[in-house]
Amino acid sequence: MSHGHRNGFTLLELLIVVVILGVLAAIIIPRVTANAAEAKKVACSQNVGLINGMVEKWYVDKGKWPLDSLEDIGADPAYFPKGIPKCPVTGAKYMLNSVTHRVSHLHVSAEAQGFIERLIAPILH
Ligand SMILES: [Zn+2]
Repeated sequence: MSHGHRNGFTLLELLIVVVILGVLAAIIIPRVTANAAEAKKVACSQNVGLINGMVEKWYVDKGKWPLDSLEDIGADPAYFPKGIPKCPVTGAKYMLNSVTHRVSHLHVSAEAQGFIERLIAPILH
């Protein structure tokens, strides 16, 4: 072999490395993003559990349920010193179901949200 060939990789070696890296990325990246999405959903359900617990404590303390919008309990630092968290998945505010007085919360896609809003807009206006 001449001196020139000992320096660095050949084109074929480089191609093999690029292909291997591509295969590794294709395997690893979807898992990492799926885990991040899953972690946000877990954090959301923990938020819902915390809010439901505080709503029940408010009922025991005050003898009435907080507003469905959670504005009253959310503004009270005795219950939420740092304010009520928002959904880490969608960024939406949590709301109470007016019948059950528990957090009513779903993860819907932006398209589904838009579709639902278009459906109910004529009813509301
Ligand atoms: Zn959520």
